Amino acid sequence: MTSISILGATGSIGRSTLDLVRRFPGRFRVEVLTAHRSADELADAVLATNAKVAAIADARAAPRLAERLAGRSIEVLVGADGVLEAAKRDADWTMAAIVGAAGLAPTLAAAERGGVLALANKEALVCSGPHLLDAAARAGTRLLPVDSEHNAVFQALAERPVATLRRLVLTASGGPFRNASLEEMARATPEEAVAHPRWSMGAKISIDSATMMNKGLELIEAHLLFGVPETKLATLVHPQSLVHGIVEFEDGSQIATLGPTDMRVPIAHTLAWPDRLPLDEQRLDLTTCGTLNFEPPDERRFPALRVARDALRTGGSAPTILNAANEVAVASFLERRTGFLDIISVVEATLESLVADAPGTLEEVVAIDCAARHKATALCAALSDR
Ligand code: NAD
Ligand code: MG
Repeated sequence: MTSISILGATGSIGRSTLDLVRRFPGRFRVEVLTAHRSADELADAVLATNAKVAAIADARAAPRLAERLAGRSIEVLVGADGVLEAAKRDADWTMAAIVGAAGLAPTLAAAERGGVLALANKEALVCSGPHLLDAAARAGTRLLPVDSEHNAVFQALAERPVATLRRLVLTASGGPFRNASLEEMARATPEEAVAHPRWSMGAKISIDSATMMNKGLELIEAHLLFGVPETKLATLVHPQSLVHGIVEFEDGSQIATLGPTDMRVPIAHTLAWPDRLPLDEQRLDLTTCGTLNFEPPDERRFPALRVARDALRTGGSAPTILNAANEVAVASFLERRTGFLDIISVVEATLESLVADAPGTLEEVVAIDCAARHKATALCAALSDR
């Protein structure tokens, strides 16, 4: 039996992971489940899986969780420190599915204790750069990418030498505004922006898909995970989201990974790796899926791609600043304080106003993340006063 821990068990990725775990009774034993504030959903999942530890980040939700789990030998941990403590508990396999840099400390803690770390929380990697990779390497933790494009590339690469790569291609659905004009995007509401045409995901990543900052973060993620230089990283808009990633070699051969538009497929890959889990209904039928289209991304309407590439080229703490400013600007848009196009303007202005020094210690990473949030918050406030 594989013991597992799910950080962010109540989110879109967390729920898909729990769905897989429930389908294979006797194969997985759940140790730890964590959530931000959904006490009832967390309690339901803990009771259904017989998890031993439940951690909730928001202390206001803790009494409800404690009430739901009273009288059972389940350990309840509270606050950001409680989630961190839970992440330190032993497990053979850990899903890092907290959204945003809030997941950095728990994800790092999981990386530091060995086993398999299935990484969905791309913001933790982008903001901490090599820290997370170094922590995993030191502890002998096997990092497996959950992000569908990176999981696809991981499978296509299959440990082949990266030096023989000509190009690594991440596909993008193009999001809900693939064909929208800048005028339409300027008026976009949060409801329109989260309505993703292909994937059902949490609010933050849905907005990132609409601005295409998701692909920008993924370029940085790919650079870190696979050690591929920025010049060899490409993105391709593919609205059907059935080809997830492609690796092109020096001799012209291209190996692509295809699969259904269902995050359970890459999650299952990491759960069983190097084995496979049989998922009968998750099938892609190429005879009925219709035409597959590919087009280059439009950086004029989606400047996030250029801004993220620039941050990757600049290096140092630029990716940390990019990620932090983006989190603040997305939250401000979701709260209807600023507009859709303001998101990337705020990210760009934050990057211009702060010096991207070489990343130092983890404390320095956290300090620059904090400074970027401060700056981006001020920029959003100025925009919302317009
Ligand atoms: P979500 O918003 O649906 O879920 C986020 C989870 O994190 C929830 O369990 C929530 O309780 C927890 N959380 C939020 N803030 C927290 C905090 N401050 N402290 C502790 N826990 C907190 O998000 P999601 O769509 O599941 O995405 C999770 C991560 O996976 C993100 O980094 C996202 O970019 C990545 N990802 C998601 C998908 C997808 O299809 N949803 C695909 C690829 C990558
Ligand atoms: Mg992705």
